[in-house]
Amino acid sequence: MIPTGFDYQRATSIDDALARLKAGGGGKLLAGGHSLVPLMKLRLSEPSVLIDITRIPGLAGIREKDGTIEIGAGTTHSDVAASSLLRQACPMLADTAGEIGDPQVRNRGTLGGSLAHADPAADYPAAMLALDAEIHMKGPKGWRRVKANDFFQGLFTVDLAPDEMIVGVQFAPVRSAAYAKLHQRASHFAIVGVAAALDVKGGVIQSARIGLTGAGTHATRLSAVEQALAGKPATKESAASAAALATLDELNSDIHASEEYRRAMIPVFAKRAIEGALARVS
Ligand SMILES: Cc1cc2nc3c(=O)[nH]c(=O)nc-3n(C[C@H](O)[C@H](O)[C@H](O)COP(=O)(O)OP(=O)(O)OC[C@H]3O[C@@H](n4cnc5c(N)ncnc54)[C@H](O)[C@@H]3O)c2cc1C
Repeated sequence: MIPTGFDYQRATSIDDALARLKAGGGGKLLAGGHSLVPLMKLRLSEPSVLIDITRIPGLAGIREKDGTIEIGAGTTHSDVAASSLLRQACPMLADTAGEIGDPQVRNRGTLGGSLAHADPAADYPAAMLALDAEIHMKGPKGWRRVKANDFFQGLFTVDLAPDEMIVGVQFAPVRSAAYAKLHQRASHFAIVGVAAALDVKGGVIQSARIGLTGAGTHATRLSAVEQALAGKPATKESAASAAALATLDELNSDIHASEEYRRAMIPVFAKRAIEGALARVS
């Protein structure tokens, strides 16, 4: 289908984008366009104006700051996947980005667009939960920071007002972390995706954060698995017994996978993610 008519504007700064968003009344930010444009073609989204944020200076980039990593909202999936900083300090996130879609999607799609859109099968949300990342956003009332755990709230629903813009994310890098997903063959979206981040000292798992995507309405932490891992030896046996507890009360069922299949796959991919994280313990 052809989208309904809209205006196109190009923002020159974050504040310029926010001013246009407010003035437009019905405007939408345009990043990679890989989620928004398909929605417009289906006429599920009919913005009166598209505000292009792809050329805002400084909105893309990956940098180290005071022992944390900051990634700008405009950073493409391919830049996250190729980042030597992430490959060294937090390879799980680079792996996650490298598994999104295909090269065309990775070259245009952005971190901020993916988080704002919050597709239930998107990959980044699981990784953001496992990293305990903070999402930074700006709106008419100024800056806000929201933990990933509070950000993802429901089906395509996040803690982001229509007049706010995601500017970036910040997290403490974790080397002993891994992402494992069962992907839908055509799009590569996650049918089940699990990100695991472990804190291991002296051969003992001190704490764990496990993020699940693809299985339910929105990405969520698997707290039973996290609790089962804490205090256990950093072994495959610990991974297997904790992963066996991985489940969710309400699961998606669609043309790609039934509820039963997802229920069966969650522990499988939780185990793979935890084992992958253990393999990175130095
Ligand atoms: C064929 C195909 C395969 C895909 N496979 C996968 C996959 O395997 N895994 C996966 O995770 N994703 C996948 N995607 C989705 C892809 O990652 C998208 O790029 C991403 O979800 C949206 O990012 P975008 O930059 O394209 O955002 P856009 O489409 O431009 O925007 C999406 C929404 O976010 C809003 N927005 C954009 N940037 C901001 C911002 N900075 N602040 C606030 N709101 C903002 C827009 O207004 C819009 O509502 C796939 C997409 C396609 C088309």
